[in-house]
Amino acid sequence: MNEHILQNALADLSIGEVRYFDTIGSTNDEALAWATESAPDLSLIIADEQTTGRGRLNRKWLTPPGTALAFSLILRPSAADRVHLSRAVGLAALAIAESLRKLHLSSQIKWPNDVLVHGRKIAGILVESVWSGESIDCQVVGMGVNIRQEAIPYRVVLQFPASSLEEALGSAPKREEVLHDILFALIELRPKLGTDEFLKAWEEKLAWRGEQVRIQALDEPPLTAKLLGLDSDGSLRLRDEHGNPVTVHFGDVSLRPAA
Ligand code: ADP
Repeated sequence: MNEHILQNALADLSIGEVRYFDTIGSTNDEALAWATESAPDLSLIIADEQTTGRGRLNRKWLTPPGTALAFSLILRPSAADRVHLSRAVGLAALAIAESLRKLHLSSQIKWPNDVLVHGRKIAGILVESVWSGESIDCQVVGMGVNIRQEAIPYRVVLQFPASSLEEALGSAPKREEVLHDILFALIELRPKLGTDEFLKAWEEKLAWRGEQVRIQALDEPPLTAKLLGLDSDGSLRLRDEHGNPVTVHFGDVSLRPAA
């Protein structure tokens, strides 16, 4: 991958500016800095290698050179979309899911921020915000997609089984083509962000819907409950063993199928 290949691959998309790096600390960090310097909407930071990629709670997201898609997109929300900032992670997850569908792969969303193929994590999403005083000025949506098998970290750092497109398809697709399809899908879906149709599409892709899951929040005992769906803001709706409704908000919670 290089700047030229990227420009060609993305030529038909209405995106902002593109910055490509052979190696970078974290595409989200670079995008956060650029966003404060007035990067246009849908500007893209992409790197061949990430040396300090992050998941939630500063957990590491690994991106060895030549193996994965690692990029961050800057979203400047419209006035209408400002009401739905918490849906951005769903937008990214649905865009990744749509790019996988084009490759004839069915996927599920492990709420809130991972995409699974055959029950294994193939992509992760990290949404961060740029604040201006009391309000959010823009959002940075980081995505990591495992293209080649070498993208997958050693089992020891994995908190959940992982896979790659190479493993799922038998051969690795071109990174720039997957990137194109993710961005294309995201641009198409974005105008629907505030609709019930969007929420329904997001809900329908949730892993373990209708099943018992285990929710682990930091410093709290685990909760086992049935996963029902999503609230309007993208929070997770569940029912506990006593039949009481439970809502889990975004934050550092991890979700697993109940053993
Ligand atoms: P989770 O949503 O599962 O809690 P995070 O969003 O915090 O995970 O992502 C970081 C975690 O993802 C790491 O702790 C590691 O277990 C796992 N991980 C890191 N790099 C990769 C990768 N390339 N593919 C799949 N999983 C990864």
